[in-house]
Amino acid sequence: MTPSTSQPVRVRFAPSPTGYLHVGGLRTALYNYLFAKHHNGKFLLRIEDTDQSRKVEGAVENLISTLGWAGIQYDEGIDRPGAFGPYVQSERLDLYRRHAEQLIERGKAYYCFCSPERLEEIRKRQMTAKLPTSYDRHCRNLPKAQVESLLAKGESHVVRMKVPLEGEVSFDDVIRGTVTIGCEVLDDQVLLKSDGFPTYHLAVVVDDHLMKISHVIRGEEWLPSTPKHVLLFRALGWEPPVFAHLPLLLNPDKSKLSKRQGDVAVEEYRAKGYLREALVNFVALLGWNPGDEREILSLDELVGEFSLERVGKSGAVFNVEKLNWLNFEHLRRKSDKEVLSMLRDYLSTSEFSSTHLDDAYLLKVISAMRDRVSFVREFVENSPYFFRPPRGYDPTVVKKRWKPETSELLSRLIGEFSRLENPGKEEYEAALHRTAEASQVGNGQLIHAVRLAVSGMGAGPGLYDILFLLGREETIRRIAMAIEKLK
Ligand code: GLU
Repeated sequence: MTPSTSQPVRVRFAPSPTGYLHVGGLRTALYNYLFAKHHNGKFLLRIEDTDQSRKVEGAVENLISTLGWAGIQYDEGIDRPGAFGPYVQSERLDLYRRHAEQLIERGKAYYCFCSPERLEEIRKRQMTAKLPTSYDRHCRNLPKAQVESLLAKGESHVVRMKVPLEGEVSFDDVIRGTVTIGCEVLDDQVLLKSDGFPTYHLAVVVDDHLMKISHVIRGEEWLPSTPKHVLLFRALGWEPPVFAHLPLLLNPDKSKLSKRQGDVAVEEYRAKGYLREALVNFVALLGWNPGDEREILSLDELVGEFSLERVGKSGAVFNVEKLNWLNFEHLRRKSDKEVLSMLRDYLSTSEFSSTHLDDAYLLKVISAMRDRVSFVREFVENSPYFFRPPRGYDPTVVKKRWKPETSELLSRLIGEFSRLENPGKEEYEAALHRTAEASQVGNGQLIHAVRLAVSGMGAGPGLYDILFLLGREETIRRIAMAIEKLK
């Protein structure tokens, strides 16, 4: 829904700090961010920590750093104060209590004194009778005097929503169209718990209103809660925001995306060396497309193109192969200098952290390998021979390429190479051709043997590129070593 100019766009990402950032959460954050930026609006980060039992130490810091890594910047939040703070729900308890009281005064909520044991009892009874479990509204119509005396005695209580007994709730969802639900299926939801903390439902409505949220963009799992929220907005005399519920994320077998079938934490993808550009691009396409064939998009391009109208209803399949392809494409688009700095970071955590490798050398490795890697770590994993001599020789390649006469041929080649002064690729090539001709063998036989000798492998970038990169001394040393080990 294109927002009207009268109401500025303000959207929020409202995670609960229960651990890592799920890729689904990243998508929600991203769509909110893109929508805000596209419409010159504001994007807020709100921490929903009203369920203190689920709170995980360090989760907020982790969320902030992961969003920062992804390049999703918020305008207001815990560490970016704005006019609508605090942005952490546990620091807003007073507001929720005041609004719960207001709802009671308006006859839209009531005190409930039922004990946990009684509630459990009803639940069991309903389950045995195969009925949907819901509160039996025992305290809904307690006489005022009784309520006052129980409160005065300090009796433990919650505040529940007084859901209309009949009628319908209806709201428009940008993605799903008009959603209508009969009130009779809605439970008298707890709004304020006995410890004075609000439930999610009360807190989200109060905050979305007070923080002037124009559009609520969130996962489909919240769709069933929305009718209750709409009732609450109206009960408080407020206009609900525009809703947009994003499609589910699915495993390739169409089941709901789960940890069992692969990684779901953004941190895991980050640790595996995925580029932020690739992950953000990938996540953007989970349920949205730009309306044409383009698949590789930068964050700025996504901001320019994004619209909620192009978000689909059906579940979006999380396909890691596509993510890997996007990583390859985004890595290819980086300048050599950027790749160099990433490669240096990677090397500093690898077994080569104390190997001296100068920039000029690494840049040559990068240009030889860059069309062959999807991840920075693959510069090392796919061509370790640029960083150290081979530790062994691929046995299948040895079997195919190392003939009884190979040692002799390579010794001759060492003789030719030793005579070269400051050789470039062409000089290595000419020397190899001379040796092959003099020995009456095809060039190919020597080429394969040399590749095996210097790299330990049967494939890689052009042989003369490798030799030029390694330099004459190292090339000769490695060939001699292979003769020694393989003859
Ligand atoms: N706190 C909810 C969550 O953890 C937010 C739901 C919403 O955006 O309203 O996902």
